[in-house]
Amino acid sequence: MKTVAGNWKMYKTIEQATEFFSQMSGMAAPRTDKVNVLIFPNYVAMGAVAVSGVVPDWIHLGAQDVAAEAEGAFTGEVSPQMIQSAGATHVLIGHSERRHIMGESADLLHRKLSNALQAGLIPVLCVGETLDERDAGRMQEVIFGQLDTGLAGVALQNGAQLTVAYEPVWAIGTGVNAANEQIEDAHRLIRDHLSQLLGNPVGSSIPILYGGSVKPANFAAIVGLPSVDGGLIGGASLKPDAFAELIAIAEQV
Ligand code: PEP
Repeated sequence: MKTVAGNWKMYKTIEQATEFFSQMSGMAAPRTDKVNVLIFPNYVAMGAVAVSGVVPDWIHLGAQDVAAEAEGAFTGEVSPQMIQSAGATHVLIGHSERRHIMGESADLLHRKLSNALQAGLIPVLCVGETLDERDAGRMQEVIFGQLDTGLAGVALQNGAQLTVAYEPVWAIGTGVNAANEQIEDAHRLIRDHLSQLLGNPVGSSIPILYGGSVKPANFAAIVGLPSVDGGLIGGASLKPDAFAELIAIAEQV
């Protein structure tokens, strides 16, 4: 089973999101035993499309962020329960834009991840090194550090409770995807580390997605790699045609 997950970032109004899902509803549903489809819209669009019922039942929804608390006086924050009330099942934690632009700390991300897990949301924990870190030979150290802090004290019953996305920062939104060997290398390291941290069979069954300038032209080669359980896709997930192509590619693996 491969996952095709679209991260819409800060794009799409309610109208635009509705138009996207209407177009997806018009296409033949993919084989859900072959491909798991997820979209991470902004909160406003997610709430609206969830209520209008325009989302086909084979597309699962996720939030791009979540509060570190369950409820309370936290202006601007959105709780796991609110996200779940829109029918969403997943949440991104530690996307590089939140780590590097919003400056979210390792401790905050750990609290967000724990809060999501406790509510029964599936965190998609994003990890990845910057180009400077890779050039300095620190890729493994950075990724392991992000996994260690994000998952500190976490115990899971099964691998379906968590997803990890390897997203090298230098590949996000740049048009330059990581080479197949770089992806395999990073995913193998992540897999081994997850097994160490969470034990097996949990660690060996957590899906690991690749993200970073995925598009229809390069996805077949990437999603076909043995260590890759799917893609987390930004830019190419915004257009229904391109997203449908990505789904069809994953379905054929
Ligand atoms: C992302 O937003 O997680 C991402 C990988 O973006 P893009 O596909 O545009 O590189």
